[in-house]
Amino acid sequence: MVQRARRAVVFTGAGISTECGIPDFRSPCGFWTRYKPIEYSAFLASEDTRLEAWRRFLMIRDTIAKAEPGPSHKAVARLMDMGHVSTVITQNIDGLHAAAGIPAERIIEIHGNGTYARCLACGQRHEIDWVRGVIDETGRAPVCSACGGIVKSATISFGQAMPEQQMADARAATLDADLFLSIGSSLQVFPAAGLPVLASHNRTPLVILNREETGLDGLARLVIHAEAGPVLGAVMARLAPG
Ligand code: NAD
Repeated sequence: MVQRARRAVVFTGAGISTECGIPDFRSPCGFWTRYKPIEYSAFLASEDTRLEAWRRFLMIRDTIAKAEPGPSHKAVARLMDMGHVSTVITQNIDGLHAAAGIPAERIIEIHGNGTYARCLACGQRHEIDWVRGVIDETGRAPVCSACGGIVKSATISFGQAMPEQQMADARAATLDADLFLSIGSSLQVFPAAGLPVLASHNRTPLVILNREETGLDGLARLVIHAEAGPVLGAVMARLAPG
């Protein structure tokens, strides 16, 4: 299927980055097994909650900052170089697809990016190191140096609106795809998981590669319950021996 594809979309979730030491959310050692997610409305409502959200974010950020692209990120980048994959749509905020060499214009980050922050009022960009400095110095959640607004990581929280342009681009790429390959996602988070549903309704072959069952396995042409790295390694060995 991959060999025939010329415009495959690769859709990735936290599971593609566990090989790089970044925990996913729902596995037994995953992040949410330990912490209940903070909803967007709660983040807006109280400074204590914002501080707690930042404390957790900075913890994840430290892990992400040390991570390098894994075998699966590299295989996807190679498949793009070989002309099989046109676009990567990722729910991840770790920037590892770009670090694996995929050009930014071929990556659609539908849940944002965790390498910087923005003011929710005026949109001013703030660096994470600046946020960390403010919290360390003042013990308070950061406010925008330009307008005094609330500063939040440039990621999408539960209850926060999806980025419109990225979602429109992701839908367009999905409708144009000749293969839709979902890797390392539990496919429980909507509207993101609506993209494989859209592919399947559009009669695009859907392949799901995930360690455990997903709620959308029944829609897929092919389901592989296994570790992503070794499976993609085997695919690469068949496509580009040696
Ligand atoms: P999820 O945690 O709900 O699902 C991850 C899935 O990947 C699980 O079903 C797990 O069984 C599977 N998995 C884990 N390691 C695997 C491996 N090596 N090979 C194959 N499968 C593996 O994650 P989600 O579906 O992406 O949704 C959660 C949300 O949290 C998303 O927005 C996600 O991107 C975000 N998140 C991002 C990161 C990151 O940026 N790396 C980390 C955690 C969560």
